[in-house]
Amino acid sequence: MEYLSTRGAGPVDLEEALLRGLAPDGGLFVPATLPHFSAEAFAGRENIVDIAVTFLSPFVAGTRLEAALDEICSDAFSFPIPLRALPPAEARLSVLELFHGPTAAFKDVGARFLAACMARLDAGQTDTRPLTILVATSGDTGGAVAAAFHGRAGFRVVVLYPEGQVSPRQAHQLACWGGNVLTLAVDGPFDACQRLVKQAFSHAEIARDHRLCSANSINIGRLLPQAVYYAAASLWHQRQHGTTASFIIPTGNLGNAQACVMARECGLPIEHVVLATNANRTIVDYLASGDYAARPSVQTLASAMDVGDPSNMERLRHLFPVFERLRGKVTAVSVSDEEIREQIRLDATRRGELWCPHTATAARVHDQLGARLGEGPWTLVATAHPAKFHEIVEPLVGQPVPVPPALAELLGRPTHEHRMAADLDALARQLATG
Ligand SMILES: *Cc1c(COP(=O)(O)O)cnc(C)c1O
Repeated sequence: MEYLSTRGAGPVDLEEALLRGLAPDGGLFVPATLPHFSAEAFAGRENIVDIAVTFLSPFVAGTRLEAALDEICSDAFSFPIPLRALPPAEARLSVLELFHGPTAAFKDVGARFLAACMARLDAGQTDTRPLTILVATSGDTGGAVAAAFHGRAGFRVVVLYPEGQVSPRQAHQLACWGGNVLTLAVDGPFDACQRLVKQAFSHAEIARDHRLCSANSINIGRLLPQAVYYAAASLWHQRQHGTTASFIIPTGNLGNAQACVMARECGLPIEHVVLATNANRTIVDYLASGDYAARPSVQTLASAMDVGDPSNMERLRHLFPVFERLRGKVTAVSVSDEEIREQIRLDATRRGELWCPHTATAARVHDQLGARLGEGPWTLVATAHPAKFHEIVEPLVGQPVPVPPALAELLGRPTHEHRMAADLDALARQLATG
């Protein structure tokens, strides 16, 4: 399989696309052609690891990852991803729970797959310096990447996050690692963290002194494994109910939803793909008008979706270059903070379900969709555990949110972090100490 940049560069193989992250022309890597799976391709494959191996085989063909694919998938899909039907059965509503990994959000899937691949690709390097994964995070990505690379020989993770601008439990998850993870609480907003990371990559001396590598969400190595859980959920749904699944996906940078669209293009039984956004309306307005206009992001309760210029839009537009066609492929609905609050309260009482603020956007959109797209069956995609955002959820539902064991374990650990000015020299000094 070859990979091209959305802006035309390439082709490269998957090894190069993974290690580069961003294409040299500034575009994002996409498969040159998508494989098409017949209905029989997954016969007898029920668990997610087996489905992952079948689905990903064509994508890794011809690389050093091919022979290790079984092992990589067992390593990455090491926690349950349940598809749970909500009562009553006639509601025709299910939830795909993506939050049972080490940091209780769906980004664990992509981060763990990327780490498992990079560990194989970096083996046998003659340069004995560790590979430094440099990552700026506004909350969930940094924890997932730290968890995925923590304790892996030959790797070091440096996480930059905006001090005071992530939830208390997210902050703990960023700083509870130690060992080969260096956590930097930056005195500045997320944009400053991201700028520092970009500057470090393009700084001749820093790039020479450290083997730098990125792991941000535009890496194709995070997108591919996300398509796997949509493939699996659509097959489980079809086998269990005899109908085609439709997904409502909390959306920010569009990586999760783009993976679902890709799985459908590969022939998996998926009908509608609905994007639930928060008050950041860029995608909704684009689909309505046909004019794409990036905006500054606005802060909302669903903070991991506070994106004004979703990077993966470039992949979606590359896949469907004609706007009228693209518009037929996805639907997008925006949800306000007030609606998020209302939905969390309502579903706690009505269904006994606790949603994180991100998942609540999907639940809200579901309740409004019936009139537009029909009564389903629908699957809500739950992107984080509500306990990760307890400071928002608990006052709304008036009860404590039980903390899952994996999260409790992390929250019990001591934290190690360094405060840092939003300054490239300060980052260079921190990189030199590790
Ligand atoms: C990152 C994240 C999202 C948004 O996912 P995208 O791939 O950026 O669209 C939604 N919910 C949670 C909990 C997240 O961490």
